[in-house]
Amino acid sequence: MTILTKDGDAAQMDSGTTRPKMNALGIDLGGTKLAAAIVCDGKLVTEIKKVPTPKGADKIIESVIGLIADFQKDHLIAGVGIATAGVVNVETGEVIGSTGNLPGWEGTQIKKIVEQKTMLPTHAENDANAAAYAEVHAAGLGDKKAVVTITLGTGIGGGLVMDGKLYRGQHWAGGEVGHLKISMDNKRLCTCGRWDCWEAYGSGSGFLRTSKEVIATIKPEQSNLANKLPHLTNEIVGEAADKGDPVAHKIIEIWHEHVATGLVSLAHALDPYCFFITGGMEKFVNFETMRELFIDRSLPIIGQNVKILPATLGTSAGMIGAASLVVDSMVNR
Ligand SMILES: [Zn+2]
Repeated sequence: MTILTKDGDAAQMDSGTTRPKMNALGIDLGGTKLAAAIVCDGKLVTEIKKVPTPKGADKIIESVIGLIADFQKDHLIAGVGIATAGVVNVETGEVIGSTGNLPGWEGTQIKKIVEQKTMLPTHAENDANAAAYAEVHAAGLGDKKAVVTITLGTGIGGGLVMDGKLYRGQHWAGGEVGHLKISMDNKRLCTCGRWDCWEAYGSGSGFLRTSKEVIATIKPEQSNLANKLPHLTNEIVGEAADKGDPVAHKIIEIWHEHVATGLVSLAHALDPYCFFITGGMEKFVNFETMRELFIDRSLPIIGQNVKILPATLGTSAGMIGAASLVVDSMVNR
C-alpha cells in the first residue's frame, strides 16, 4: 500500500527500523478529557488539543470525529490511534469492558465507527497499553523480553510489552494489574467490587485512604495533618512531608510498601527487564526507597536485576503509543 506523509510523498522508511515516518493522530480518551496531537516517529509534532469528555458514547464519538476533522484542516494524516480507558478487543476495535469513568462506553465499536466516518485506518487500544508501548519504544527497549509499565493514578494501570509487542492476554484483559490481590485480610474494597486489590492500596486513591486511616489515629499535637483531615488531599500530605512532618513521612513509607508489594508479585511472574513508573502519583515515588523494598522482598535474581525507573513521556504517552500502533498495524498488515 502507498502511505502518504504530510508532504504527500510516499513514506520514508527509517534506516534500521520498520516504522515509516508518517503522521498519525493520537487521541487519549479519558474520563474527564479528550486530548489529541499528531505524532510522527514516536514524537509529538503538534500542540496537544484538549476538549472535555462529554457524557454518553454518541457524544464522545462526535467529539473524536470533531478533533480528527480539526487536525485534518492543516495536516495530512495517515491514520488514527485511540487510547481509551477500558478493555479493548484490538481486532474488532470494540470496547468490551468499561470503567466507571466512562459510563455507557462499553460495547462501543470505536474503530469501526471512526473508520466509517473518516475513511482513515484506526487502531483502538487500552490507554495503559498504549502508554506502555510508547514508553518501551521511546527508551529503545523493543528488544527486551519483557518491560512492564505501571501507571499510578487514581487507579493502577499496567501495560506488558514483550519482545517489543504488547501482551494483551487471551481476553484482552492482560495487564489489568491494578486488580492483583495483595492481601487476604478483606480490609479494603476495590472499585471493581472485590477486596484488597493492589489498586485499593497503591493508587492515588489508595494513598488517600492510607492517609486518612493513619491520621485518624493521631493527636493534633503530633501533626498539623490532624486538623486537615476533613479536606485532606494527597498534595497536602506531600507538602507536609516536604516540610518534615513525621506522620506524612510514615504515610509515604506505608504507601511505598503497598506499591512495592505489587511490583514484587509481577516481577516473579514476568522477570521483566525493568518497570517504568508513570502517572500522577509518580512524583511521590522515591525510587531508591522503592528499590530497597523491592530487593528485600524478591528472590536475589529478581531483586538484583529488575530495574525500577521513572517513565519519560508523561501524559502524552497514550497518544504517542496509540498513534505508533496504528502506523505499525498498517506496516505489518
Ligand atoms: Zn479490583
